[in-house]
Amino acid sequence: MPHSQNSNIVCQRIKLRGVVQGVGFRPFVRRLAKELKLTGWVRKDGHGLEIEVCGDAEQVHHLVERLREDAPSISRVDSVLAQDAAVDTHAEDFYILNSEGGRAPAMIANDTAVCRDCLAEMFTPTNRRYRHAFASCTHCGPRYTVCRALPYARERTSLKAFTACPKCQNEYRKTSDRRHHHEINCCPKCGPQLTLLDAAGRPLPGDPLAQTVALLAQGKIVAIKDPGGFHLACDARNAAAVAALRERKHRDEKPFNVMLANPASASTFVQLGVGEPGLLAMPERLIIMLKKRASCDAALPGVAPGVGWLGVMMPCTPLHYLLFHEAAGSPEGLGWLDLPQKLALLMTAADPGGEPLVIDNQEALERLSGIADAFLLHDREVLARCNDSVARSGPGGLQLVRRSGGYTPRAIKLPRSGPPVLAVGGQFRNTVCVTRGDEAFVSQHIGDLDKAGCSDFFDATINRLLKFLEVKPALVAHDLDRAGHAAQFALDFAHQRAVPTFAVQHHHAHVASVLAEHGVSAPVVALALDGVGHGADGGHWGGELLRVDGVRCERLGHLAPLPLVGEAAAIKAPWRLAAAVLQQLGRGDEIESRFAQADAAAVAQTLTRGDDIVHTSSLGCYINAAAGLLGVKSIASFDGQAASLLEGMADHYGDILPLAGGWTIADGCLNLLPLFAVLADEKDAERGAAIFHSTLVAALADWVCSVAPAGGTIAGGGACFLNMILARGLRSRLGGHGLHLIEPRRLPPNDGGLALGQAWVAQQYLLG
Ligand SMILES: [Zn+2]
Ligand SMILES: [Zn+2]
Repeated sequence: MPHSQNSNIVCQRIKLRGVVQGVGFRPFVRRLAKELKLTGWVRKDGHGLEIEVCGDAEQVHHLVERLREDAPSISRVDSVLAQDAAVDTHAEDFYILNSEGGRAPAMIANDTAVCRDCLAEMFTPTNRRYRHAFASCTHCGPRYTVCRALPYARERTSLKAFTACPKCQNEYRKTSDRRHHHEINCCPKCGPQLTLLDAAGRPLPGDPLAQTVALLAQGKIVAIKDPGGFHLACDARNAAAVAALRERKHRDEKPFNVMLANPASASTFVQLGVGEPGLLAMPERLIIMLKKRASCDAALPGVAPGVGWLGVMMPCTPLHYLLFHEAAGSPEGLGWLDLPQKLALLMTAADPGGEPLVIDNQEALERLSGIADAFLLHDREVLARCNDSVARSGPGGLQLVRRSGGYTPRAIKLPRSGPPVLAVGGQFRNTVCVTRGDEAFVSQHIGDLDKAGCSDFFDATINRLLKFLEVKPALVAHDLDRAGHAAQFALDFAHQRAVPTFAVQHHHAHVASVLAEHGVSAPVVALALDGVGHGADGGHWGGELLRVDGVRCERLGHLAPLPLVGEAAAIKAPWRLAAAVLQQLGRGDEIESRFAQADAAAVAQTLTRGDDIVHTSSLGCYINAAAGLLGVKSIASFDGQAASLLEGMADHYGDILPLAGGWTIADGCLNLLPLFAVLADEKDAERGAAIFHSTLVAALADWVCSVAPAGGTIAGGGACFLNMILARGLRSRLGGHGLHLIEPRRLPPNDGGLALGQAWVAQQYLLG
């Protein structure tokens, strides 16, 4: 249908940016163009896609509009730039052209859960993909974890090792097929294969899926290879299996997460609030922290004892679904997917000793020896290590606790475009961030850099991100504290490439991370409520009232200094912090009788002498002190444990009025000692936890109001914002004073968000 020289015929050249490669976008554009009877072509270019389209002016206009509105579900269109072009009167059809030039493509998409269409095929016995553990299509499946390099094409993915069979090739070529241009297309005939090995690495006979489900039912621990690395799995209902996994993984009290078939199955163990079933079913497949039912601990013994929340995840990959399918008796069709299923799989990252996730088959046999009874493996390589992401439902919707698999490497839009920056994050819960233009790419969760192997993973992640994005950083941002691998890497990297470095204070970065994701460039008053971080004066900060204006950060106030007897030891020992509070209340003589710790007397003496003790303004430490004083927890066995227990107790108790006169504010310093004086005599720990939370919220709001201009925006950051009573309470109290609290949403409030904040501050610095 060549166009005549008609006045209604126009031609436009369109540039599309965003996540538009490897997500079925070109076939989508072609379908759309054909539907609108337009001619032209679409191809990948250095920044995304380029489209030339000719035809009726109105129809061309429709196409431009629908590029955004009807875009494929896992794509993301950031910009559509359309310009008039010369009318091509010879064009007869709409074509998908080969990539142009092959320079830096936009970016690869994140992994997403298997879609309903693929599941339907997997559970139809006559379908050629029946029980196929690697089913995917242009709408679903792995991307980041199977991609070795860009531009995205099969020869640069982990499917390179598998030659597509004629049927799969046909699907790839057929424009109307869901797998048209699906680079990792495969089927049971031509794709990767599952194998099941015993603890010694010998193949086990029989069907790997049926055998795995049988082993799980016998209480065995099976290592399962997933797209981002291995999980260790066992039957979460089997107390002996859970206890064995806890012992073999040396995991004392830290809760495990479970995988459940669907929200209907989850409601047996947890209370699902409004919107929470939807969070579970998000294509990113996060672990969602949900409020446990009273019966949960008995039904899932030893999985998450004591704490108020259970981490629940829905199946994500075809392999996960096949395990549930097998356990359900291999029903036909999709009907069973929404019905309650009995199987509850404990799924925990195969990261022994907190070291990076196991990703390789041979590595699994070595590093998981003594932990796993069997290995469910396959021959598709893991190209990017990715832990599961974790979230909970917060006052403003989804609140990320860990942003990793399912999100990486999705970009966060920055308020301004600037030169590329590399930000290396902090020493713990590390992530790194690279900016390109007005996009910030935050890496997957890397972990604590003092753990073996994590520094190598850190280096490799930075190299991979820089390679994918094809940017040369103009500046490298790091923490003010130069100790530790991240800052040292930053200094070396910058030195070798002769680019400047820029140091950003820890809490400044926490706040900046919030400003970056909310697109706020104006100066704001901010609350940084955190564990202990390196302060601008070298001190132990963590309860800070700040004014942040781009690169400038002014300390308006802080929590009253609390003695840290034994520094690192005190941070993990709520009783030591409680002892320090008692000392400050003039009740140091109670320390020995209250705390049955071997060194209670020595701590009391050190506090009395008072010399050589460092102090902290960290709210995390005050929360631990409250937990210690109320007898909730003396020594934490993992980071955040005491705070989580205390929050759970306050939540269980319910609402209570804040304590009148529970705090004082003088010269910007917030002092909570009057509150602690009451807690020290409180006999009911749950009531004490509730009083502590409600009074803390009122005190913090009062503190903010003492400096914030009316009607302003308040930025909140730092790990304490994971505490929902605190976050919800602050939002509503500040709202009552006409102040609008903005909090981290798309990044976690904890140190996982530092890299983005560092990058944003550094970019402001470069832009002047
Ligand atoms: Zn699919
Ligand atoms: Zn095939």
